[in-house]
Amino acid sequence: TAAIINGKEVADSLVASIATQVAQLEAEGKRLPGLAVVMVGDNPASDVYVRNKTRRCQQAGILGQEFRLDEATTEADLLGLVDRLNDDPGVDGILVQLPLPAHLDEQRVLNRIAVAKDVDGFHPNNVGKLSLGDATALVPCTPQGCVTLAQSELGADLSGKHVVIVGRSNIVGKPAAQLFLAQHCSVTVVHSRSANGAELARQADILVVAVGRPEMVGPDWVKPGAVVIDVGINRTERDGKAKLVGDVAFGPVAQLAAAITPVPGGVGPMTIAYLLENTMKAYAMNQGQQV
Ligand code: NAD
Repeated sequence: TAAIINGKEVADSLVASIATQVAQLEAEGKRLPGLAVVMVGDNPASDVYVRNKTRRCQQAGILGQEFRLDEATTEADLLGLVDRLNDDPGVDGILVQLPLPAHLDEQRVLNRIAVAKDVDGFHPNNVGKLSLGDATALVPCTPQGCVTLAQSELGADLSGKHVVIVGRSNIVGKPAAQLFLAQHCSVTVVHSRSANGAELARQADILVVAVGRPEMVGPDWVKPGAVVIDVGINRTERDGKAKLVGDVAFGPVAQLAAAITPVPGGVGPMTIAYLLENTMKAYAMNQGQQV
């Protein structure tokens, strides 16, 4: 059966190394990195994510601030807050937690975040920089976590591997495709209109699944010996108890994969670790350092 890829452990070591860097800054009497997390309304899942993000920041010594705005906040008010954070020299990273309430235009808000503070990597300039291979790009956190977990199993050199990504969202699927391309992989993207998704997926050395459908990907999607990265986080109920499951049917797929990420404890912790990593990169850029 498959090895279980321990995302929590990989994330913990990333966060520990960031904490060491921040402690060094503090010892040198330097300004500490700051991250502002903005949330509008009271989506319970977002609430958990936001709290985890600021808690992890504090563990690493990064100054995490939460801005919680009322559900009825106008777009003008939200844009005003983004402008103030853009101008605040103590804030290196700005993250607006999605989804926003329906009356707010998400892309317009994301477009307003200063490119060099866009630690989620969703601003069009960062999306463009990623596709150009520009080293100053701030890159979406979850797909960076997927690449690192694949490398933790297969080694740093992924060149020539065939990666199949199931899902083509702007947040996960598309940036994951760019990142694996940058690692010299062959990349296939499968989505809801694909005619033969399972057949394509069975050709993958590395299968990345981000569809948001509980346990959709079963063993018929997986080549024996593949490395499976499950991005899905689905809240379900089993025997009257709340349970998180991924987009992959973990038990049956673990029978034939070489390695698989669990949910929770796989990709999730990596997302937050890369948020801190991006904040450090934004801090360095903000201080005028080469990256
Ligand atoms: P999304 O809804 O924006 O995109 C889903 C994608 O799946 C779409 O591109 C769609 O084409 C594809 N899809 C849907 N049904 C399909 C099918 N039957 N066959 C093939 N493709 C299909 O979702 P998202 O934002 O990319 O998130 C996906 C999942 O990842 C969700 O469960 C989400 O909660 C999770 N997620 C986890 C993290 C994390 O930190 N671990 C971060 C972001 C998203």
